[in-house]
Amino acid sequence: MKESTIHSINPATGKIEKTFNEMSDAQIAQIIDQADAAFQTWKKTSFIQRKTILKRAAAIFVERKEELAKLITMEMGRVFNQSVSEILFGASILNYYADHGEEFLKDTPVGVANNKTFISYEPIGTLLSVQPWNFPFYQILRTAAPNIMAGNAYILKHASNVPQCAEAMEKVFRDAGLPQGVFTNIFMKGSRVDALLANPKIKAATLTGSSPAGSSIAQAAGKYLKKTTLELGGSDPYIVLEDADIDKAVKGAIIGRFSNAGQICISSKRIILVESIANEFIEKFKAQMAELKVGNPLDPTVAMGPLSSEKALQKVLEQVNQSIEQGAQLLMGGKRINGVGAFMEPTLLSNIQPGTVAYTEEIFGPVALLFIVKDETEAVQLANDTEFGLGGSVYSENEERAVRVAKQIESGMVCINAPTSIALAIDIPFGGTKNSGYGRDHQLAGIREFVNEKTIRIL
Ligand code: NAP
Repeated sequence: MKESTIHSINPATGKIEKTFNEMSDAQIAQIIDQADAAFQTWKKTSFIQRKTILKRAAAIFVERKEELAKLITMEMGRVFNQSVSEILFGASILNYYADHGEEFLKDTPVGVANNKTFISYEPIGTLLSVQPWNFPFYQILRTAAPNIMAGNAYILKHASNVPQCAEAMEKVFRDAGLPQGVFTNIFMKGSRVDALLANPKIKAATLTGSSPAGSSIAQAAGKYLKKTTLELGGSDPYIVLEDADIDKAVKGAIIGRFSNAGQICISSKRIILVESIANEFIEKFKAQMAELKVGNPLDPTVAMGPLSSEKALQKVLEQVNQSIEQGAQLLMGGKRINGVGAFMEPTLLSNIQPGTVAYTEEIFGPVALLFIVKDETEAVQLANDTEFGLGGSVYSENEERAVRVAKQIESGMVCINAPTSIALAIDIPFGGTKNSGYGRDHQLAGIREFVNEKTIRIL
């Protein structure tokens, strides 16, 4: 394997900040051996020992919040105050599994009269974790914290555009006292990942990313009968019914669609409006879109930084242009912002027809899609007319009605009167269905994915 280079590039300036050598197959095999050796000891440590280390890691996160947040902003362009929030959320995930891990994994009696049968939750070995750049610390921690607490070893293959975040993550765990090999980075391109599943010391894999990457790793894992969890793309519906609080719905849609420059799996990508309130919503939404300030992500008055890379920007522009050629109407934005950096105007498209790019594909950028429907029934049909099934929102002041609609949406999560992204919490399960993947992160579900649920029966 020829070694190549991984670049850390600031998308706001286009400047290469640091370069890393991609690791050779032999280096990666050695890291996997080390992880497996570390697992043999780590699995025997007590919950108290693991808890102490996770708590120390959480404290380091809080201490280094500005330094780590700057890395996020510099490598993928999120506005700085939101990067700080991600680091604090990361600390809370570490604390959460430190505090609850033992209780989630305690022996659980199962249904026989004498109560002498129980489930024992046991670590399985080294987990390969493939992660995206859009929340470079949170995405890691939501699987790393529960798995380290469960006694597994963890190998991180982070996205190639955030190598400094990957390096900083490993350092936090090392400084917290985690034994060498329990958490390790590998620097390699995504195209080489599938081959690692052949290594018998990799026991399972988790991937957060696009549906094609998920399908690829699941096929490789299937060949060797290894379990996977997949958190993939989405094109979440955001339904506004005629009895919604329109101001609340408009505010939620702005946050839901434009936070993180629209690069969130659970962004409110398809805004579905019942016709009687459509005009009022659209006028108010356009007015608030026009207020969004795009620019230097370190400037606290800025709402939206650049997209994560020039390549990401080009992909979104291409999707927008193709959609317009296919008949979509451009109501606002649609172009890159001239000058240095991968900046894009907040964009609004309407008149989107079935079978076109905007209708069928996930657009991972600041592009809101408007759909107008006759009533609740049409709204649900449209919401489900997608290969994706990650999140979704329903706005109605009638809670019973909103729940009825939520139950008809084919997705893993639905929020009522809020965008899915702001309702994200570590004590609530997270995950999708259909081509958005399978398995669950967060809460008890997240720590039970990669343990052997062993039945022990005493007779
Ligand atoms: P991506 O291209 O799939 O990359 C994600 C990760 O997978 C990166 O580490 C990448 O490595 C690796 N990868 C790429 N191709 C692979 C392959 N064939 N086999 C194994 N690994 C491979 O995704 P992205 O475009 O950077 O990220 C955005 C996508 O992630 C969107 O679809 C978004 O909705 C989804 N996402 C989902 C969730 C969720 O929780 N459901 C959360 C965040 C993001 P390289 O960087 O080296 O290519």
